[in-house]
Amino acid sequence: MPTDPMLPWVIPENCEGCADCVSACRRGCLAMHATAREGVYVPWLDDVGACTGCGRCEVTCTWGAISMTAYVENARRRFAEKRPSCAPIPARVD
Ligand code: SF4
Ligand code: SF4
Repeated sequence: MPTDPMLPWVIPENCEGCADCVSACRRGCLAMHATAREGVYVPWLDDVGACTGCGRCEVTCTWGAISMTAYVENARRRFAEKRPSCAPIPARVD
């Protein structure tokens, strides 16, 4: 049965910048971005269309800094308009 579409909602105030959510995303659609505050990074969804709404990023984040939301249009607009201005950090390859 299809589920309602969901998108992650990043809560920067709670984020520790560990990038575990980026590693957990099987679609590779999250990337860490530098923010205007030196040394502070947050995950951001650069390609909203690639996100399946699976919720792995939310489950992975032990800091409660990602919450899945059904308000997908609000989330889509926020990811497009509030993106940290600095370039994304390339994904770590272990
Ligand atoms: S949202 Fe959570 S898992 Fe992702 S970088 Fe921030 S603290 Fe880490
Ligand atoms: S909901 Fe799933 S596909 Fe979307 S960013 Fe999170 S882990 Fe990736």
